[in-house]
Amino acid sequence: MRTSLNSCKRIVVKVGTSTLMYPNGNINLRTIEKLARVLSELRNEGKEVVLVSSGAIGVGLRKLQLAKRPASIPEQQAIAAVGQSELMHIYSKFFGEYGYTVGQVLLTRDVTDYPTSRKNVINTFNTLIRQGTVPIVNENDTVAVEEIEHITKYGDNDRLSAIVAKLINAELLIMLSDIDGFYHENPLLNPTAEMFDEIHEINDDVLKLAGGSGSDFGTGGMLTKLAAAEYCMQNGQQMVLANGDHPEVIYQIIAGEKIGTLFTTDKQGGFLNDPIR
Ligand code: ADP
Repeated sequence: MRTSLNSCKRIVVKVGTSTLMYPNGNINLRTIEKLARVLSELRNEGKEVVLVSSGAIGVGLRKLQLAKRPASIPEQQAIAAVGQSELMHIYSKFFGEYGYTVGQVLLTRDVTDYPTSRKNVINTFNTLIRQGTVPIVNENDTVAVEEIEHITKYGDNDRLSAIVAKLINAELLIMLSDIDGFYHENPLLNPTAEMFDEIHEINDDVLKLAGGSGSDFGTGGMLTKLAAAEYCMQNGQQMVLANGDHPEVIYQIIAGEKIGTLFTTDKQGGFLNDPIR
């Protein structure tokens, strides 16, 4: 059991494009609906949740019926602008069915560099949470080209989600991807690769096991997820990397069950036979 996860009250959940979209480019409404239901249920239980969602470009491509992502940054920004509002519409509809209102928060990663903007952002989050809404965060693609430029290389709502977790003092970041956890090797390349139960330090030995993205829609692969984990651990926060195919795993994660890979500096006496500690 991961007992320290039981008591988490404030939780950031990050969901990647590969969880929100089918490989054929269509939107995975079933997963989005389940995600909305689980997060609404957590709110009902008294937890405070913030969702960091990728997917604006994927949804925008679908909405505009484009087969593939154009190369130019302005075109991608325009697609993200279309996709972001469509994505919020979908979230608003599903959360609405469970009685929750969503609030869109678009951020750039340098928000932490400017004390006034930082304070404004924290105040907005706290107010949204206090009033019972569910903040849904994405990088502001119109302003921040970095996210878009990096999207096929090492895209980055992963890091943004860790920044949000720190800003709002969340105890836990749940990173949902298309893979069950962090493995000794990319399972796409080596199907016999084994999954880590817990990681307690992001060192060179760990970093060299991280490969790139596994799908057309994927973004950073494991490197940005490890960067996010390291940031969380530096701030005394915990991160669980798990598969988003079945968002119900969030209940099990919070119940302390051994789902996915837990990144924590707090050695909890878990199953520790991995070579990397
Ligand atoms: P997302 O869109 O959810 O952010 P990504 O495609 O960016 O997902 O990253 C997840 C992918 O990273 C997995 O599908 C897997 O193919 C790849 N990957 C590379 N190295 C590893 C590893 N060591 N353990 C697990 N997955 C890995």
